[in-house]
Amino acid sequence: MEKSNKKIQNLFRAIRWLFLFLILVFVTSIGLMHQYLQKPKLLSTDAFCPFGGIESFFSSVVYGVMLKRIMLSSFILLIAVLIAAVIFRRAFCGQICVLGTIQEFFAKIGQFIFKKRLNMPKMVDKPLRYLKYLVLLVIVVWQITAVYQAVKAGNTNEIPLVIRPYDPWAAYMHLASADLFAEFTIGFIVLIVVLIGSVLYDRFFCKYLCPMGATLGLINRIGLFKVTRNDKTCIHCKACNKVCPVNIDVMSVEIVNSSECINCNECVNKCPVPDTLYVEGPKKIKASPLAVTLITLLIFGLVLGITTVSGQFQWFQQSLEKEVEKLGTFDASLIKGSQTFKEVSDVSKVPKEAIIEKFKITEEEFNSPIKEIKDKYDFETEEVREFIKEYLESKKL
Ligand code: SF4
Ligand code: SF4
Repeated sequence: MEKSNKKIQNLFRAIRWLFLFLILVFVTSIGLMHQYLQKPKLLSTDAFCPFGGIESFFSSVVYGVMLKRIMLSSFILLIAVLIAAVIFRRAFCGQICVLGTIQEFFAKIGQFIFKKRLNMPKMVDKPLRYLKYLVLLVIVVWQITAVYQAVKAGNTNEIPLVIRPYDPWAAYMHLASADLFAEFTIGFIVLIVVLIGSVLYDRFFCKYLCPMGATLGLINRIGLFKVTRNDKTCIHCKACNKVCPVNIDVMSVEIVNSSECINCNECVNKCPVPDTLYVEGPKKIKASPLAVTLITLLIFGLVLGITTVSGQFQWFQQSLEKEVEKLGTFDASLIKGSQTFKEVSDVSKVPKEAIIEKFKITEEEFNSPIKEIKDKYDFETEEVREFIKEYLESKKL
């Protein structure tokens, strides 16, 4: 009986790891395709992060504008994360998040080197756990300030994501980009620190720095299903404590209410006594670790599938022509750095010669994406928008 229980637990662990690996490969491919695939061009990698929905929440609700690089897709992903959170709390962190998977992988290397899981000294660990809430607060306040400044300056077209240059996730998604060190030097350093930190202490970023983890930690208590321990059958072997990547003292509680729990269910899959550690919800309904993995994936699959089919979740950048078609009229605010001057000229009907003369670019550069040449001639995409807008207005007179 015990042997077959162990077999099932190992199978559940293997399935969780299989899906984590597949998601890692899929998301990493998005990063690579974003760099190398020109047509069709994938959206900015920031548009595939649910935290973008939190960063852009204020500007979207108050001013009706999204931050630069954030699309509806970020909000849709955030909704999927929240639906999963209502049922399985931080299941996004434990069953989906790519940065979490990479950390667990590096932690395995650490455990192989040190032959055990290292634990941060308690007096350092405890205060450091609050650091992620401070990171969240700083990002929110900083972003709101940037939004106010942009509104005051009358430029709401390109409100920057303030945390982007420091973001290890953005750096990871640009590892193959020529702009890695130009745009993400600090983010890259943070990524290296996180990976080294994870070799020493599992889920280093989740425990101490992640603003998404902090957000989910704040609402963790609304989650219906929690890891539950039957003290009557528990043999206090500490197996659950030893395997927990976020160092929760599972053995000392009956219900894991900790906002640190990432719902990975490693503890449930390690407990040697059947029916002693399990995931339980309202009316004592139990969910196996496999059910938690599959239902979480199903939530994401359904939300992304339905919104992709209905056209709300975009994967690829739309051409300027398609956007104008959708809007029914040309608006200079639709111009993006990823578009070529030729595309802008064709759609806006502003002559090629006028554009070349204004920005002093060559014929060849006229066919290049704006963002690739703007630094060379020291202008911003906003200046292109303004020029096109002014040119069209002057022709109306
Ligand atoms: S308590 Fe269990 S489910 Fe929660 S993080 Fe630790 S090992 Fe994972
Ligand atoms: S692994 Fe199971 S039996 Fe061992 S301490 Fe944890 S809950 Fe008790």
